[in-house]
Amino acid sequence: MSFLYRNTRKKEEAVTASQAILQGLGSDGGLFVPDEIPQMDISLTELAKMDYRGLAYEVMSRMFTDFTEEELRYCINSAYDEKFDDPAIAPLVSHHGTHFLELFHGKTIAFKDMALSILPYLMTTAAKKNKMEKEIVILTATSGDTGKAALAGFADVPGTRIAVFYPKSGVSPIQEKQMVTERGKNTFVAGIHGNFDDAQTGVKKMFSDPVLRKELDEKGFRFSSANSINIGRLVPQMVYYYYAYILLVNAGEIKAGDKINVVVPTGNFGNILAAYYASLMGLPVNRLICASNDNKVLYDFFTTGVYDRNREFILTTSPSMDILISSNLERLIYRIAGNDAEKNATLMKELSETGKYTVTPEMKKELDKFYGNYADMDTVAAEIKTIYEEDGYVVDPHTAVAAAVYDGYKKETGDETPTVIASTASPYKFTRSVMTAIDPSLEKEEDFALVDRLEKLSGVKIPQAIEDIRSAPVLHKTVCEIDGMEQVVRGFLS
Ligand SMILES: *Cc1c(COP(=O)(O)O)cnc(C)c1O
Repeated sequence: MSFLYRNTRKKEEAVTASQAILQGLGSDGGLFVPDEIPQMDISLTELAKMDYRGLAYEVMSRMFTDFTEEELRYCINSAYDEKFDDPAIAPLVSHHGTHFLELFHGKTIAFKDMALSILPYLMTTAAKKNKMEKEIVILTATSGDTGKAALAGFADVPGTRIAVFYPKSGVSPIQEKQMVTERGKNTFVAGIHGNFDDAQTGVKKMFSDPVLRKELDEKGFRFSSANSINIGRLVPQMVYYYYAYILLVNAGEIKAGDKINVVVPTGNFGNILAAYYASLMGLPVNRLICASNDNKVLYDFFTTGVYDRNREFILTTSPSMDILISSNLERLIYRIAGNDAEKNATLMKELSETGKYTVTPEMKKELDKFYGNYADMDTVAAEIKTIYEEDGYVVDPHTAVAAAVYDGYKKETGDETPTVIASTASPYKFTRSVMTAIDPSLEKEEDFALVDRLEKLSGVKIPQAIEDIRSAPVLHKTVCEIDGMEQVVRGFLS
């Protein structure tokens, strides 16, 4: 059964899955959403017999309906292979009855690898299907992790180039080093004097600038996006929520059909939206717990129904969640507005003009499945230390945000439903924050000295991604102003 993907701001704009992946974004800045979410018609007991790739096929084939089986299996098998340092691809680790779904076993040790390992294959396959012969130019804004994962995925992929913009003072030292040492010949990386929202807004602006689009078209280029505004990022992320579920079934923790809670440390609202889509497909989910850091715009939204980005942007120890404009929330707003593009477009216009909007009480009622809360930096540091002391397990600051919010949720609600925490990054990516949370006296040590200490402390081998950048030369030195991004892109393409 096939269906189309529709622009959240323009009802008449509807495209196939492969076209939505190629375009990345709707023509006027809206996002593509599936016209329907098909039901998973294979029983959970049957799914529980599958490995990651088999399961990925069952989920993705229901969403990407214009890909052939051969095309999809090729994409899946090329993506989820030995690049991952764990044969399970996304192993589930349990401590004190809480289940951490480790999504950081890919090439760049953040959960972004789960989708960005497959996106280049989906995109080049989509280009072939649609007889698109232009060179694809991936424009990416990153709060730290998407950048490197997208660079790794698209590096030296024929027919593509990729440009990444990151906030110069808003990422961890390891995150920055990972990006600026990227070797791919078709890659370009620039820091901007601004925050993630500035980078994301700048990229979206270039996408919807008709003059720039035409100019590039004439030169044989076509923009696309590797951010989670691209539906090609979200669908692969639905897979691992199903996977976590069947791992719990196979471990005897739950019976097929039991409900689970999912806790997601959230920034751009992509990861948790994928969990929501999985639940709409039929995955038994009780609550979706949306965990924010000090930039708690989503917590405020879920409690009041008012989305308000007019506030201070706080740089935290979980930089990949330092976001005030959560792009993917738009997909949820569209849905709770009754799939009404006009209503959604009005709210998004308010957001861009006044920085805020309010949903109606009827819309707010549709948000029942979500629970939002936040953890500030001190709470996060204490959480890292506690989990380490109780379980000898070291989590990164993003995962710790989720764990802390979950602690609060349990106290507040008494809900004992089995729960999966999306563990979104390796602690090695945020060594400084992690190690000083455990022992503040380490403040003065160098980054790689801390890496070595973390290995001793956690007993987890230093990932290849970290070894690779220890002595790698810096190859990307561009830094620009927010309003200089377009010029930089022109330069990269000339
Ligand atoms: C990107 C990221 C997040 C936030 O995910 P969203 O899909 O943007 O909500 C959380 N943790 C880490 C480590 C990330 O890289």
